[in-house]
Amino acid sequence: MTKVSLNVKLLSHTIDPELTIALGGKLCYSKSEIDTLREDTKGNEDKFVGKLMSFGHLSPLEHASFTFGVQGVSRALLAQITRHRIASFSVQSQRYVTNDELTYIVPPSIAALGDEAVREFEAQMTTLHGFYSKWLEKGIPAEDARFVLPNAAETRMIFTMNVRELLHFFELRCCMRAQWEIRRLAWCMLAMVRREAPAIFNTKGTSCVSSVCSEGKMTCGRAREVCELDEQLTELVKNDASDEEIINWVNENIR
Ligand SMILES: Cc1cc2nc3c(=O)[nH]c(=O)nc-3n(C[C@H](O)[C@H](O)[C@H](O)COP(=O)(O)OP(=O)(O)OC[C@H]3O[C@@H](n4cnc5c(N)ncnc54)[C@H](O)[C@@H]3O)c2cc1C
Repeated sequence: MTKVSLNVKLLSHTIDPELTIALGGKLCYSKSEIDTLREDTKGNEDKFVGKLMSFGHLSPLEHASFTFGVQGVSRALLAQITRHRIASFSVQSQRYVTNDELTYIVPPSIAALGDEAVREFEAQMTTLHGFYSKWLEKGIPAEDARFVLPNAAETRMIFTMNVRELLHFFELRCCMRAQWEIRRLAWCMLAMVRREAPAIFNTKGTSCVSSVCSEGKMTCGRAREVCELDEQLTELVKNDASDEEIINWVNENIR
């Protein structure tokens, strides 16, 4: 049995996402031919993208996409992230991939109880994996044996979101009211896209960072703290933090 933790990589994205979005927006308001549109737009794309977002012309944001590879996350996270219908997913199959040992995520609330609690959790994982192995040995197909596996079981996925969807995702999932695991993933993703497209993402995040808290009566009341954390994340990105440094910072600070 192996305990694993969050690993996120930005695998690829639209070449020059800010220019691509600016081109889409510019076309709407310009007499330029397609051949000259790029020359007319290049150099001003940062400002133009900002303008588009400020007056709510958001459909050009759909022209640029970002693809992430994620592992060390639980099936509990999978159930949440796949609710985002505009994203495209490829997820490691529990029908076609069987594991001799279970890799799993330990929730921080259990880890915080100390070594004994973690050992108890690990023993539970071992028991569940034992049930799974027994069903496989009896010839039950993996697609059915997996029914006894826990939500803590690790999954791996590659997914793509366009910029409009990413902004929506960050608004919901960088929020302190989102569940800790998807929230940590969202903060890592935010740092990684800020590195590539600052004009789009630098002032974006959850609603209390980009405008005002959208949670109404359910607000966590931590808006100031969240804004301070967001400033720290911006500094990290400015200082060319590696993926590993971003993930470590998120695990330590996004609680
Ligand atoms: C804190 C939190 C708690 C949650 N708790 C629960 C829970 O207890 N139970 C539960 O079931 N879910 C829960 N969810 C999931 C939530 O209900 C949404 O399914 C999830 O956040 C995806 O949001 P979305 O539909 O806005 O996003 P996406 O699917 O990414 O869609 C983006 C946007 O596109 C538009 N859109 C997409 N599809 C349609 C459509 N068919 N018709 C019209 N417009 C569309 C909407 O404007 C939508 O906001 C929770 C989410 C959060 C953040």
